[in-house]
Amino acid sequence: MSEERTGLVIASHGRRILVETAQGERVPCAIQGRDLQIHCGDEVRWRRDTATDRGIATERLPRRSVLERTNAHGGTEVVVANLTHLIVVVAPEPVADFFIVDRFLAAAELAGIAAMIVRNKLDLPAPPDVDEELANYAAIGYPYIVASTLHNTGIEELAQRLAGQRSVLVGQSGVGKSSLANALVPGLGAATAELSAATEEGKHVTSVSTLHHLPGGGDLIDSPGVRDFAPAIERIGRAADAFREIAALAGQCRFSDCRHLREPDCAVLGAVEEGRIKQRRYESFKRLGRLREQLTPAPGPRQRQRR
Ligand code: GDP
Ligand code: ZN
Repeated sequence: MSEERTGLVIASHGRRILVETAQGERVPCAIQGRDLQIHCGDEVRWRRDTATDRGIATERLPRRSVLERTNAHGGTEVVVANLTHLIVVVAPEPVADFFIVDRFLAAAELAGIAAMIVRNKLDLPAPPDVDEELANYAAIGYPYIVASTLHNTGIEELAQRLAGQRSVLVGQSGVGKSSLANALVPGLGAATAELSAATEEGKHVTSVSTLHHLPGGGDLIDSPGVRDFAPAIERIGRAADAFREIAALAGQCRFSDCRHLREPDCAVLGAVEEGRIKQRRYESFKRLGRLREQLTPAPGPRQRQRR
C-alpha cells in the first residue's frame, strides 16, 4: 500500500476510471465502495494497489459544478463534474430548435456554469430567425461565435474562448459537435480510443466520457451521454431562476411568490408586453415550468403505489 494522492479523472465508464496525476501519469482505477460516485472531470484522492499496479479511488474532492441529466428511469444522474463552460451548438441543418437551446442554457444557469453559443455551418444559409435569436442571446449575456468546420472558420476564435475553461459541446444531433471537437483537439479519435481502452482494459466501448487537454489551454470533455442530453429539469427549483432575464426582474413583481403567469403587476409580464423580454424566451420559460410539473411526481399516488 502506498500513500494517497490526488488526481483528475480524465475518463470514466461506470465504475472504471482513468486518473491523471499532476505529473501526467495515467492510472486506471477502481472506485472504493458502492456509494462513492465519480465521473469524468472529478478530482479524487487515490492510492496505488501495489499488487496490481492499478489504483483505487478512495474519495471524491468537492465539486465546483455538476451537469445532470434525466436518465431512462426518470431519475437524475450526473454526467460530468467541474465544468466551467457549456457550448451550445446550433446550425441551419438540422433546423435549430430554440426550446432545446433554452433548456441547455437553463441547465447551465442552474449549475452555475457559463454558457455560449456556436452557430456552426456558416457555409449554409440560415433562416432569418436564427440571427435574431443569436442577437437576443448576446443581449442577455450569452455570447455567440460563428463557425464552419467545413471551411475551418471560427475554430481559432472558439479555441481562444475555451482556453482556461473546462468545456463540453452540446446540441441537437447533427449540428456538428463531433466535427468541432475534432477541429479543436487534433487526434481526438485516437486519444479517445486510447483513453477508452485504458479505462476498459481493452474492451471496446463507445460510451466512455473522456477529457482532452486543448493545445491552447483548457479542457474539452467529450461524452456521448452529454452531447444531446436532456438536462435534468426536475431539479429546477423555480423555472424563473433558469432564465436570467426573468430572474433579473422577478424582484420587482408585486407578489414575492409571483409565478409570472397571470399575476397582477408582474414585472416579467410587463417586460414581455413591452418587448424587453423576448416572447419566445418567455414561452420557453412557461414550457419548461409545465414540463417540470409533469416530471415532478405527485407524492400521494406514487407512495401509495409502492406500498
Ligand atoms: P454531431 O451529431 O453534432 O456530432 O454532428 P457531426 O459533427 O457528426 O456532423 C453532422 C454532419 O454535419 C456531418 O455530415 C458533417 O460533415 C456535417 N458538418 C459538420 N460541420 C459542418 C459545417 O460547418 N458545414 C457543413 N455544411 N456541414 C458540416
Ligand atoms: Zn411576476
